[in-house]
Amino acid sequence: MDVSNTHLLDEAVVTTTIDAVVDWGREASLWPFVFGTACCAIEFMSTAASRYDISRFGAEVLRFSPRHADLLIVAGTVSYKQAPILKQIYDQMPEPKWVIAVGACASTGGFYDNYTTLQGIDEIIPVDIYVAGCPPRPEAILDSVMDIQKQLKHEEKFAVRNTDFKGKLDDI
Ligand code: SF4
Repeated sequence: MDVSNTHLLDEAVVTTTIDAVVDWGREASLWPFVFGTACCAIEFMSTAASRYDISRFGAEVLRFSPRHADLLIVAGTVSYKQAPILKQIYDQMPEPKWVIAVGACASTGGFYDNYTTLQGIDEIIPVDIYVAGCPPRPEAILDSVMDIQKQLKHEEKFAVRNTDFKGKLDDI
């Protein structure tokens, strides 16, 4: 086959399914909103920088506007005072959206078992992937992004997710 012939596929027809095209587009173009509040956010910065290069996974377009993002990455300790802000950011993100809790603090409150600290962001918003560690290494954060990519392929394509979730702030 002459691969230098750029007209090789001119007459070709490719068949696929809508689901496959949607999955392909979504997995290769996750747009993260990073809610970074403490040390774990520094790990995320490393994940995004050249050594670990999150752009290899199509997730380098960081957005600090929730309406532009579909992947919420919460990295750091979240206080009760910050909780309504995080919840509002989550609510403003369009569907479908996914959430990663990076590190012990975002997942469980970590060692801040006190009256100021939210004991895990899943008390207020649904979480898809928890990343263990204090802090987790950048490889673990990349692994969680790949887990989201795998997960979204098995979900209903145009459904609103987590409609049955009820967090502490949903009662207000
Ligand atoms: S899990 Fe550890 S490294 Fe991450 S924000 Fe909490 S204290 Fe910092």
